Amino acid sequence: MKILIVGSGLYGAVFAHEATKRGHQVTVIEKRNHIAGNIYTEEIDGIQVHKYGAHIFHTSNKKVWDYIQQFAEFNRYTNSPVANYKGHMYNLPFNMNTFSEMWGVRTPQEAMDKINEQRKEIAGKEPQNLEEQAISLIGRDIYEKLIKGYTEKQWGRKATDLPPFIIKRLPVRLTYDNNYFNDDYQGIPKGGYTQIVEKMLDNPNITVKLNTDFFDKKDEYLKSFDKIVYTGPIDQFFDYKLGHLEYRSLRFETEEKNVGNYQGNAVINYTEAEIPYTRIIEHKHFEFGKGDEDKTIITREYPAEWKPGDEPYYPVNDDKNNELYAEYKDLADKEDKVIFGGRLGQYKYYNMDQVIAASLEAFRKWK
Ligand SMILES: Cc1cc2nc3c(=O)[nH]c(=O)nc-3n(C[C@H](O)[C@H](O)[C@H](O)COP(=O)(O)OP(=O)(O)OC[C@H]3O[C@@H](n4cnc5c(N)ncnc54)[C@H](O)[C@@H]3O)c2cc1C
Repeated sequence: MKILIVGSGLYGAVFAHEATKRGHQVTVIEKRNHIAGNIYTEEIDGIQVHKYGAHIFHTSNKKVWDYIQQFAEFNRYTNSPVANYKGHMYNLPFNMNTFSEMWGVRTPQEAMDKINEQRKEIAGKEPQNLEEQAISLIGRDIYEKLIKGYTEKQWGRKATDLPPFIIKRLPVRLTYDNNYFNDDYQGIPKGGYTQIVEKMLDNPNITVKLNTDFFDKKDEYLKSFDKIVYTGPIDQFFDYKLGHLEYRSLRFETEEKNVGNYQGNAVINYTEAEIPYTRIIEHKHFEFGKGDEDKTIITREYPAEWKPGDEPYYPVNDDKNNELYAEYKDLADKEDKVIFGGRLGQYKYYNMDQVIAASLEAFRKWK
C-alpha cells in the first residue's frame, strides 16, 4: 500500500518503520526543516542540544523500553531537578532532602508532622482553586516556595484562578531519593534523539520530504494515497470548523557560555514569580563528560500564551477543550482513510513512551 505519514515525530516515525517491515511504500512529509518533531536534538560544540525542551525518556513499559533500544544505546541518566527559590536550592521531587532543607527535619515522622500541621489550614474544606488544593496536599511553605510562582508562570494565571484538578496528587516521598520518576527504566540516548528517528526512517521504501506542509495539497494527498497517518493538530485537519482547540506554548532562549559547568545540573527550576522563565536546562549534563571542557550550552524556557499560528506544545486538557476534542474525534472516526495519532492528532499529553506504545498499537490494529 502507499502510505502517507504527515509529521516525522516519534509517532509517525514508529508507524513508518513498522509499515515498511510489512512491505508498504511510505512517504513522510514534514513541515519543519528537520525530522524528529519535538524530540529533535542537534549537536553543538559536541553537546546534544534538546531544541524543543528537555526530553528524558522514562517508562515502566518493558516492551517499549526494549523497542527503543534497537535505535540507540541509553545512558543511566536519572532526572533529579533542583528548584531555585530566591537563591535557596531545594531538591525535587518533594522528598526528605526537600523537607530537611525547608524545615531542618530529619526523620519521615518529623516531616509528616510538619506537613500535617500545615495542611490543617484547609482541613474540612473542599479546595476551590489550585492554591487551596496544593495547600491541602502539602501545606503552605512548599506551596509558596516551590509551587505557586512556577505554576502561575506555566499557566499565565493566578493560582487562585486555576482549577484545583490541575494538581490531582502531589507525591510526597518520605525517603532521601531525588529520582524524579518512579518508572522502572529511564535514560538519555547516547548521541541524542534525532538518530532514533533517522534510523527508524532509514529504509529504501521510505521517502522523507522536509519543508512540506500537508495543507498545501491536502485534497491531492487524500486522493493519491491508500492510507494517511496524520500527526498534526486534529482541529486543523478539519479547518477548525468546530473552533480552535487551545494549547500552551513555550519560548526557548539558548545561549553558549564560556564555562565548563554553568549550573551543576541538567535542570534547575526557577520557582519564584519574579523570574520570567520556568527553568534553565544545561544540556551537557544529560550526557556525562560530553562537549568542550570550557564551554556549555544552556536554554531558558519561557512559558508562552498560545494563539493560532504559534507552536502548539501542550494540549490544555480542561473540560471545555476535551469536549471540543471529542467532537473532532467523532469527525475523525468517519475518515476511513486517515489515522489520527500522536500528541496533536489525539490532543493528548503523551510522553515519548506512550507515543511509541500508541503508534505500535495503531499499526497492529490497522494491519
Ligand atoms: C517542552 C517539552 C518537553 C517534553 N519532555 C518530555 C520528556 O521529558 N519525556 C517524555 O517522555 N516526553 C516529553 N515530551 C513529550 C514528547 O515531546 C512527545 O511525546 C513526542 O514528541 C510526541 O511525538 P508526536 O509524533 O506525537 O508529535 P511531534 O513531535 O509534535 O511531531 C509532529 C510532527 O508533525 C509535524 N506536522 C504538524 N503539522 C504538519 C503538517 N500540516 N504538515 C507536515 N508536518 C506537520 C510537526 O512539524 C512535527 O514535526 C515533551 C514535550 C515538550 C513539548
